[in-house]
This record gives sequence, C-alpha cells and structure tokens, in this order.
Amino acid sequence: MLIVGPPGSGKGTQAKRISSVYGIPDISTGDIFRANIKNGTPLGVQVKSIVDAGDYVPDSLTNALVAERLEEDDARNGFLLDGYPRTLEQVSSLDDLLTEKGQSLDGVIQLVADRDEVVARLTKRAQEQGRVDDSEEAIRHRQEVYLRETSPLIDVYRDRGLLIEVDGLGGVDEVGSRITQALAGRGILPASERDSESVA
Ligand code: ADP
Repeated sequence: MLIVGPPGSGKGTQAKRISSVYGIPDISTGDIFRANIKNGTPLGVQVKSIVDAGDYVPDSLTNALVAERLEEDDARNGFLLDGYPRTLEQVSSLDDLLTEKGQSLDGVIQLVADRDEVVARLTKRAQEQGRVDDSEEAIRHRQEVYLRETSPLIDVYRDRGLLIEVDGLGGVDEVGSRITQALAGRGILPASERDSESVA
C-alpha cells in the first residue's frame, strides 16, 4: 500500500500505526533521508541541502533507494510506502519494480487535510522537534512542491481504482479508525483479524 498527503497531513503518524496494525513495514523515504543526514553517510551528505530546503531529491537516487529497501526480507509479504512515489517518474519506476517482483498495490490511502490546518501542525512540530525543513519558508515551499509535483499522482491512482480517500482532520485515533474502516471496506484486514480467520 501507499500513503499520500501533503506535508503536515499526518502521514508519518498514521503510517506507523498502519504498520503495527497490519504487520507490514512502514518505509518512509523522508525518514531514510533524515537518518542518513544525521549519520553523515555519503547519501546524507549528498542530499542534506536539498532536504533542508524542502526540495525533492532527484528521482534516480530516490528510486534506487526504494528498490534496494524493498529487497529486504521484511518487505516480502507487503509494505507501506510513506512519502514515495512523489513524482510521475517515481510512479513509473515503482510500477516497473512491482511488475518485476510479481506484486501489485492493494490500495493508496490519501489523507485529506486543508492548508491552514497542515501549516498550523507543521509550525507546532517545528517548535517541538526542530526539523530544519519546518521553517516557515521551507513549509510554504514544501506545500508548493507538493501541489505541483505530487498532487497529480492522486489522479493516476484514482483512475486505477486504487485511491482510498480519508479525512485527515481529527485526533490520531479518530483518523486511524477511519483508515481501518476504509481498508476493511476493500477487504484489507488487520493482522490480528487475518490470523483469527486462518485459524477458524
Ligand atoms: P513531509 O511529507 O512532511 O514533507 P517527509 O519526511 O515525507 O516529509 O519528506 C521530507 C523530505 O525528504 C522532502 O521534503 C524531500 O526533500 C525528501 N523526500 C522524501 N521522499 C521523497 C521522494 N519520494 N522523492 C524526493 N524527495 C523525497
């Protein structure tokens, strides 16, 4: 599955919850880039100024990173990609990758949140966590880049019948149960319910 939504929509928070409820790894390209920056790896050094400014890392680099990550054992029986794909070129790279693996997407969760709310959340996070790309200027820039580069992806997945729109406003648990309900509506069940089914 994929989870998409503008910066500040609560993607990362919900992705962690989905990961534990459905028993699949949450693979966040943003987290991977930030960890590399923090540890000063060659990749981190290469992308630091791009990520700090709120721009997108080049597709070639991001595609290779995801391809490598999806080779790991924990991703064999499913995964949730958070923050990827973000460009049409990344969509087509992911398509090729999944075809190669004989896998397909079960659903694309879109977290819907209005602009004022997401800016307010990011400003709060800036105070709490001090992410360099949460400065007012970088926040505004990330919203623009999202609108231009990433919102067109929503139409692609809607046309494929994969889009699951979920209202992102409200508490973490409230939004979380909306997601669980929407997925159940498509026959996608939490790990615990899948287990009990196979026993029955
Ligand atoms: P947010 O959605 O709040 O902006 P993320 O943690 O998803 O935060 O991403 C942080 C930054 O990491 C992005 O602004 C971008 O610089 C980089 N990044 C993450 N995923 C991608 C991607 N798929 N393609 C290009 N750059 C990415």
